[in-house]
Amino acid sequence: MKSKIVVLANQKGGVGKTTTAINLAATLATKGKKVLLVDSDPQGNASSGVGLFNADPEKHLYTCYMGTVSNTADCIQRTSIKNFFILAASIDLVGVEIELITKENREKQLRRILKEVRERYDYIIIDCPPSLGLLTINGLTAADSVLIPMQCEYFAMEGLAQLIGTISKVKKSLNRGLYIEGLLMSMFDQRNSLTHKVAEEIKNHFKDQVFKTIIPRNVRLSESPSHGKTIIEYDKNCAGAKAFNKLGNEFLRRNRKAQ
Ligand code: ATP
Ligand code: MG
Repeated sequence: MKSKIVVLANQKGGVGKTTTAINLAATLATKGKKVLLVDSDPQGNASSGVGLFNADPEKHLYTCYMGTVSNTADCIQRTSIKNFFILAASIDLVGVEIELITKENREKQLRRILKEVRERYDYIIIDCPPSLGLLTINGLTAADSVLIPMQCEYFAMEGLAQLIGTISKVKKSLNRGLYIEGLLMSMFDQRNSLTHKVAEEIKNHFKDQVFKTIIPRNVRLSESPSHGKTIIEYDKNCAGAKAFNKLGNEFLRRNRKAQ
């Protein structure tokens, strides 16, 4: 199988990008896929979420951007799950947004960084910061598809229009093949009637692009990152873990069909 790069993007903060990136990546790895998680957010949540609280700063995505390491492979680290690897990030990644401004092909740097390693993995999952700045643009330019996690609340649709606009622009000028992998309802609150209303609206508008699997609000999912564990390791029987397992199956099914 050809390797595939999926970027998780939504400029709205706290909608479940990192939780989805970590747990979808881990789930795919446990299903036998070789997966690389790329932490492209200076907050470094994906890195700490898999247990890299104080990762070696020489082995960060930032050093790849700055070209101070000879190859990307040297920066990739193992996680505690078989087949699951990470290219970590920390706060120094903030500098990239500024340092790239004057650089030629500034939107294509992550594509360059991942090019030499992409064939080694079945899936590369990129976690983005909550902005439409250069780090996210680099993610969208490097990827084959974009997965959009979202919360079903009042302003969700507005933010979505802006994101879809950015995706179209990137498609036109930087990455012709980019397409939407799917929209994911990532923190679904069963008891809230507005949530159901917004979910309906999103489904009416985006139809088959919406994942059938819904990730419920689940306390275990919010606890696991502070222990540096994916949900599979933290509590594989909780509702959150079951939902991500289901999402992994749906994701793989959709990808088999698309081939
Ligand atoms: P940011 O934009 O800051 O990068 P994000 O979009 O990556 O945020 P997360 O960090 O995944 O969002 O989630 C935001 C917060 O909500 C975190 O504290 C996380 O643990 C929690 N959370 C995420 N998904 C769920 C869920 N399904 N149930 C309960 N809590 C969740
Ligand atoms: Mg995040």
